[in-house]
Amino acid sequence: MNKALQYFGDIKEDVGILAKKIWNHPELALEETYAAGLYREYLEAQGFRVTTVEGLSTALVAEYGSGHPIVGVLGEYDALPGLSQKVSARQEPTEEGEVGHGCGHNLLGAAAAVACVAVKKSMEVSGIAGTVRFYGCPAEEIGKGKAIMNDQGVFDDMDACLTWHPGPWNTVTASRLSALMRSEFFFHGVGAHAGAHPELGRSALDAVELMNVGANYLREHIPMGTRLHYIITNGGQVVNTVPEDASVQYVVRAPRSNVVQDVFERLKKVAEGAAMMTETEVRFEVQSNYYDTKNNSVLEDLMHEVYQECGEIQFSQDEKDLAEELVKTLPESHYKNNRAVYDTEEGIYLDSLPRPILGRGESFGASSDIGIVTYKVPTMQCSATCFPLGVPLHSWQATASAGSDFGVRGATHMAKVLARGLERLLTDDTGILEKAKREFLQED
Ligand SMILES: [Zn+2]
Repeated sequence: MNKALQYFGDIKEDVGILAKKIWNHPELALEETYAAGLYREYLEAQGFRVTTVEGLSTALVAEYGSGHPIVGVLGEYDALPGLSQKVSARQEPTEEGEVGHGCGHNLLGAAAAVACVAVKKSMEVSGIAGTVRFYGCPAEEIGKGKAIMNDQGVFDDMDACLTWHPGPWNTVTASRLSALMRSEFFFHGVGAHAGAHPELGRSALDAVELMNVGANYLREHIPMGTRLHYIITNGGQVVNTVPEDASVQYVVRAPRSNVVQDVFERLKKVAEGAAMMTETEVRFEVQSNYYDTKNNSVLEDLMHEVYQECGEIQFSQDEKDLAEELVKTLPESHYKNNRAVYDTEEGIYLDSLPRPILGRGESFGASSDIGIVTYKVPTMQCSATCFPLGVPLHSWQATASAGSDFGVRGATHMAKVLARGLERLLTDDTGILEKAKREFLQED
């Protein structure tokens, strides 16, 4: 049975329509009213029941069907500050300093939504039992959306969840994303004239600097693969005043959440030590806390088969030319590094073939708020080629790619793969969902 793909032909143009509308109307995390409204309207018109999520006005859950199995796809749609860019191979903001889709979430949500619609049509015609769901997940870039949605229990009853991200390859991505905690430490001291009476001052900036020194010594004694990074968010206002207030923002990353928690506890001690040394006070705020991702090889293997069935992405010559021009704006090492992963032929900039599963058994330094979902239900991550080899996420080249025809072509292919994958899960009679659940319940 291959019904979802049969119906996909009727709606495949919708991927580009939705993705380009959202690309032309980029919105920051928690402000995605246009995108959320667009998906609500589109999915309601296609016969989905759409509900909102308490505490998060730009989130939504759209479903069709009833009962188990319940399969879902995650869609994101937030953009990034300062990454406005035209579809062009030179840096040319649409509006200087404005928001842009430098992570391709306009494509991400569109492919997910259209995949659900294709499956719904197949379920309707063939009488397939179960439920298909699109999750509209806001605020990925600040790590807030899925945690709030999870608190409302919206993921609890799913049997399997598929999620994808635009990337430079067309494949299942099985590497384990890192856990992350982002926090900010605020020091408060005593201001004083820096020339006349420095002995009366207690510098909050000194405390920040001593905390950073302490954190840099801490690095030697934390588990392998842990990363610490920081920026000074307030270093004082004027040089002839001892800073009364200063602050520093930290990110701790590690392959597992428990390691992040342990290192964070130690970082707090470093902050307290710095406060004691400088006779200042310190308080902290945890701004985001991501789980690492728990992968599911049963779902990954199934989706790997689907990628093979769906074949190569057929990019046009114009699309390949633009991709090449974009790559040429970056240091050559970017292209070389990406090309080396699958030994892509020199001179190919859009890697179109279905590739072997990427990164199984490996950890990856980046993080995402999908981590919390992967600890709730069996979840699989994958990708389609929407960016040329070497184009980094969160760059102007990525914004240009996300608005381009090759970006849409990659996302359209992804919608097809997701539709087929969801349909396989709903119609499977070989116990895949049970096997995926068994693996999910194992300790790792
Ligand atoms: Zn992203």
